[in-house]
Amino acid sequence: MSGADVTRARPHPALVARVDFGSCVLLRDDGALLAAHARGRLMGPRKSLGNAIVVGDRVHYEALQAGDADAREVVVSAVEPRRNVFSRRASGRRAAEQVVAVNLDQVVLVASVADPEFSRGLADRVLCQAEHAGLPARLVLNKIDLAAAGADPQAVLDDYAQAGVPGHRVCAKSQEGIEELRHACLGRRSLFVGHSGVGKSTVLNGMVPGLDLLEGAVNEKTGKGRHTTTAAVLVRPEPDFELIDTPGVRAFAPWGIGPRDLDQAYHEFRPFLGTCRFRDCRHVGEPGCAIASAAASGAIAPRRYASYRRLLEELAAEAQPA
Ligand code: GDP
Ligand code: ZN
Repeated sequence: MSGADVTRARPHPALVARVDFGSCVLLRDDGALLAAHARGRLMGPRKSLGNAIVVGDRVHYEALQAGDADAREVVVSAVEPRRNVFSRRASGRRAAEQVVAVNLDQVVLVASVADPEFSRGLADRVLCQAEHAGLPARLVLNKIDLAAAGADPQAVLDDYAQAGVPGHRVCAKSQEGIEELRHACLGRRSLFVGHSGVGKSTVLNGMVPGLDLLEGAVNEKTGKGRHTTTAAVLVRPEPDFELIDTPGVRAFAPWGIGPRDLDQAYHEFRPFLGTCRFRDCRHVGEPGCAIASAAASGAIAPRRYASYRRLLEELAAEAQPA
């Protein structure tokens, strides 16, 4: 390294659009995409980016060559503090956090009425994680044209509206509901999550015609094709309109939520918390439980209360040493 290094070190800001094992793609404010590596000290002990740099991170980068303002290959030198973090439990037996994306404005859960059938368990887990991250969420109920074959869409949407989650009736095939959804995403950075097959790609392509091309450009930077995508990809079709797509999941395990604080991850439970007879009430049948009586009176959707009890059992079982 030469003395010129001192002058080259004027860091530029950019947004992380995609991360691979040891490299990432940055999106500059002017829309340019850059391939980047990270300084060793930013990497974990396994020399992988892991959770150190993730999609949505605001970073500073430097050109490899002194004075090379148009560098296509750059180095990330710093990561700005995050305003929020959406994680999940990584797959595998060892408990580990996988940060999916950060610095978000909302989480959009895409589900379908049928084919595959609506999964309340998955929906509630994702919504708990959003609540835990302090993020508003919305529910896109797609394939409304298949309503006769599946769950009653209005009943599902009503339950979630009561839980503070606005809903969208969508038929991505006919574009029904897509314009309203697009509107709800303008001016925000939205993370899209869904079970595989629910039509998330169709929804996203409906909102942003040509999205494939945008995602392709982001993937090109790392030489990985769209169909090998295993991680989140951020695109910005217009200034102030950002979508983060994630691969379809079969299951979603929350991270950072234990049996003791699960009740706080159910948004609509909040007004009742602290009003049960017992201070350490777990809301599983104790006398004088405010949550159970709210569910009995319909102030909390009974299906959400049932899902809380199921998830609580699972988290409690996980928390036991094997
Ligand atoms: P993804 O895995 O969530 O990205 O799902 P895709 O967008 O690839 O869609 C999965 C399947 O659902 C495809 O065969 C789509 O044509 C179909 N699909 C998407 N949206 C709709 C819809 O609104 N109605 C119906 N009936 N099928 C849809
Ligand atoms: Zn209680």
